[in-house]
Amino acid sequence: MKTFAELGLPEKILATVEKIGYKEPTPIQEQAIPVAISGRDVIGAAQTGTGKTAAYALPILVRLGEPQKHPRCLVLVPTRELAMQVEEAFSRFAENAQERFALLYGGVRYEQQLHALRAGAEIVVATPGRLIDLWEQRFVDLSHIEVLVLDEVDRMLDMGFIEDVSRIIRMCPRQRQTLLFSATVNKTIREIADWALRDPVEIDVRTGTLAAETISHAIYPVAGYQKYDLLVALLARTQYKSVIVFTRTKRDADRITEWLEANKIPVATLHADRTQRERTAALQGFRDGKFNVLVATDIASRGLDISGVSHVINYNVPEHPEDYVHRIGRTGRAGDEGQAFTLFSPDELSQLQAIERLLKMPIERKKLDGFNYRTEPLMTIPGAATTKKKRRNR
Ligand code: AMP
Repeated sequence: MKTFAELGLPEKILATVEKIGYKEPTPIQEQAIPVAISGRDVIGAAQTGTGKTAAYALPILVRLGEPQKHPRCLVLVPTRELAMQVEEAFSRFAENAQERFALLYGGVRYEQQLHALRAGAEIVVATPGRLIDLWEQRFVDLSHIEVLVLDEVDRMLDMGFIEDVSRIIRMCPRQRQTLLFSATVNKTIREIADWALRDPVEIDVRTGTLAAETISHAIYPVAGYQKYDLLVALLARTQYKSVIVFTRTKRDADRITEWLEANKIPVATLHADRTQRERTAALQGFRDGKFNVLVATDIASRGLDISGVSHVINYNVPEHPEDYVHRIGRTGRAGDEGQAFTLFSPDELSQLQAIERLLKMPIERKKLDGFNYRTEPLMTIPGAATTKKKRRNR
């Protein structure tokens, strides 16, 4: 394992890194920093929580050198929350960050963003929609971009941003450095990399197991109509520091919020139909510990780095197995212990089997002691892993 000093970072940045408290580089940092400092393009296959923000932020600061008064670096991210998080993390490494950064995302007024651009922001962190909007109105000039970062590309594609992302890439000069990060690298992402990147170095720090080993998983089978009750009972029985309850729909998130509030459990709520002000307040309140429970849709399942989340509860089995991995990745971060509970009703069997197939392990079924099950829960439904075994034995 190398030290930060051995990665080619200058003294000033080393001092900042030390001040922040990073002792040694994470694997993605160890591999990406020297390559990015050399000016090469990078495809980084890295899950969230691996330290990838610093893996691109530090070399970018080295490459930009003396500040100039126009956009030279663009970091494109899928969601507003992630944009805020990246800007906050990135700017911690920079001097005079106040003047150097512009944070551009939708759902809020233009004034502050225009002010940052007019003041000569050099590093632009943006979501695709608002960036294109501002570019079309000629408020942002991308013609001097030297480094383009495409962060959480798989998520941007999942959210239907492929056209926007391609358009933004074309708005930037051809002569540039491009750093692409994604938790998964599928065919579409390779196609983008093929035309948008030049002779990239590929770095893959994904571990064999998709879910952190510090997370323990449990499935709570229950009839659909008793899910609310079981959720409240589970929260009452669980010693949590803070917990995120994930729902599939915005409606469910709102209903659960009302239900928990009626049960005197204060909660913060995060989904796409809330105003940006509400979303920011919810996340801030949860981060600050004002609320110990956050009810959220998958908008919060990727990338968000909130320390001390001891539990994730899936109110529904997520529809896409990857979402399970992303959701539970909000807990068990940085070596902490985490627990992931999933409420499962019989109509969700195929989704559950898909998750077990992806994780390559069956998840333990549990019954909540003392809970008044009106219908006997289906404890013995075989998971995908066990189903396979059975077939072979036949
Ligand atoms: P990221 O994957 O960039 O969202 O980073 C995940 C978390 O790891 C953040 O809270 C970072 O502050 C933290 N982190 C990043 N690099 C290091 C490091 N080298 N040592 C300790 N913590 C780190």
